[in-house]
Amino acid sequence: MPKSVTPPPADGFYQRWKLEVFMRKPLSKKVRFEVFKRDGFTCAYCGATPPKVILQVDHIVPVSGGGNNSIDNLVTSCQPCNIGKGKNSLTSIPESLQEKALRIKEQEEQLQGFYKILKERDDRIESELWEVAQMIEPMALEKGIPRDWAKSIRYFLEQLGLYDAKYAAEIARAKFPYGGKKTFLYFCGVCHRKIRGE
Ligand SMILES: [Zn+2]
Repeated sequence: MPKSVTPPPADGFYQRWKLEVFMRKPLSKKVRFEVFKRDGFTCAYCGATPPKVILQVDHIVPVSGGGNNSIDNLVTSCQPCNIGKGKNSLTSIPESLQEKALRIKEQEEQLQGFYKILKERDDRIESELWEVAQMIEPMALEKGIPRDWAKSIRYFLEQLGLYDAKYAAEIARAKFPYGGKKTFLYFCGVCHRKIRGE
């Protein structure tokens, strides 16, 4: 590393120089995938996910407007959203074989990352499901629960989150302490009211 770098004195030029030298530094793969993970491998603008789109990282405050490469200033964007559907879309520029290989590798890694996140979400909801099921029916783990119960509880967990679902189960158990179908139906009623915002 050079001991000192003296910026050219002229203001406008210096700004441009700084921009080119420091700001245009491409994001590392680690940072990009950190942003993708945080955003669930989903375009923040249109909700598109792999394999339909290839994801990029977009600056919230553009580099030319003083935005930096910190993770708070970065957001997951699909290519069409990122380039603003401009005429010079990147896909219209012929790629070299090497670029193509890199793009395919990147797409594959994005897809794997996306599936991993989906799997983690499923696993989490599955374990939360049994947590709630046990509150509704104390014998849930021993005896299992009907398929439609599992489907409903999963739905409420996705809509409301664990905290509210557990709260609804608590209310239902307070009303029908022995568990079973009555408790379950009451639990569903509480959840539906909560979803409707009552
Ligand atoms: Zn998009």
